[in-house]
Amino acid sequence: MSETAPPDARAAGARPIPKPGILDIHPYVPGKAKVEGIANPVKLSANENALGSSPKAQAAYAGAGASLQMYPDPRANIVRAALAERFGLEPERLIFGCGSDEVFQILNHAYLEPGDNIVQGEYGFAAFAIGARACQAEVRMAHEPGYRIDVDELLKCVDERTRLVFLANPGNPTGTWIPFSEVERLHRALPPSVILVLDGAYGEFAVDPGFNDGLELARRSQNVVVTHTFSKLYGLAALRIGWGYAPDDIVAAYDRIRAPFNTSIPGQLAAVAALGDEAFQRASVALTEQWRPWLAQQLGGMGLEPVGPSATNFLLVGFPQKPGKTALEAEAFLATRGLLVRSTAVYGLPDHLRFTIGLEEHNRALIEALADFMRG
Ligand SMILES: *Cc1c(COP(=O)(O)O)cnc(C)c1O
Repeated sequence: MSETAPPDARAAGARPIPKPGILDIHPYVPGKAKVEGIANPVKLSANENALGSSPKAQAAYAGAGASLQMYPDPRANIVRAALAERFGLEPERLIFGCGSDEVFQILNHAYLEPGDNIVQGEYGFAAFAIGARACQAEVRMAHEPGYRIDVDELLKCVDERTRLVFLANPGNPTGTWIPFSEVERLHRALPPSVILVLDGAYGEFAVDPGFNDGLELARRSQNVVVTHTFSKLYGLAALRIGWGYAPDDIVAAYDRIRAPFNTSIPGQLAAVAALGDEAFQRASVALTEQWRPWLAQQLGGMGLEPVGPSATNFLLVGFPQKPGKTALEAEAFLATRGLLVRSTAVYGLPDHLRFTIGLEEHNRALIEALADFMRG
């Protein structure tokens, strides 16, 4: 916590001073996209879709070029209707954001006062905490034994100032998941005044029958919000469309403070087309299913430790602490081969790296480079 400047100190400042705590926030660190001296590196650092995006979504996006002077529909009604139809949801219970990042941000802003808190796993996605800290709320990190969310640990952190519990399931950067029975147990144990946010950014990749994204729990609850994104399975990260399914009261609060035009016309058109392209979605899941076990096995064979099991389009991998073999050195070595991966040091995991599952040639190149690194 930062020093709390009394209000008159801010007024007496020689220049404008932000609210207490703002400058203590660590800005979000994105996955690296560039490396010095290499023209077209392979980007395995941001969990983007290795297959790109649906040709139908690309065509819809291109078709929006003639209407750039227009404001978008503030309620994103075409996306709303398509999602409601596809997942059997009440359209008026859907909320939209500039990526699901903004959905988290708006929920934080609507529910947090200074001194309130949010609870998340210790390796929880960084976007949850940034918005909470901007509201001068405390971020409570629950221990994740074995790199996996533990419901009892989350519950231990909940107190009378807790307003939101954020659970990415499967998690990022861990890739691990908890079964729906555990999510239900968490929900049953939470006070009804606490919002449980179930971030399903990677839910579409989780094919185990024990997994459930929680839409059915949200339907019958007053305090559950399920979020999803068009950034991962649908390959539309550039267009920034996230959505949530929430109880009426939460929708009412949300829609009062969001920016009116927080999704774009090209984004809305492409999202609807992407939602309709189930062949692309199936191919994306199949690619992950095919290469994730192969990568895990190859990595294990060279003495590295994949965290798991992952139910996502990425793998978190542990490196030795031995000089010459560390995660930091591996990241630098891979960059010289044009392979960009994600350091997880900002998540408190300095001995791990996160690899997005790529196309076959990317995955093979990654394993070859790592084999050289481990030998070298
Ligand atoms: C990528 C990701 C999201 C989605 O972010 P967008 O803002 O929708 O692009 C949400 N949660 C987690 C855990 C993610 O990794």
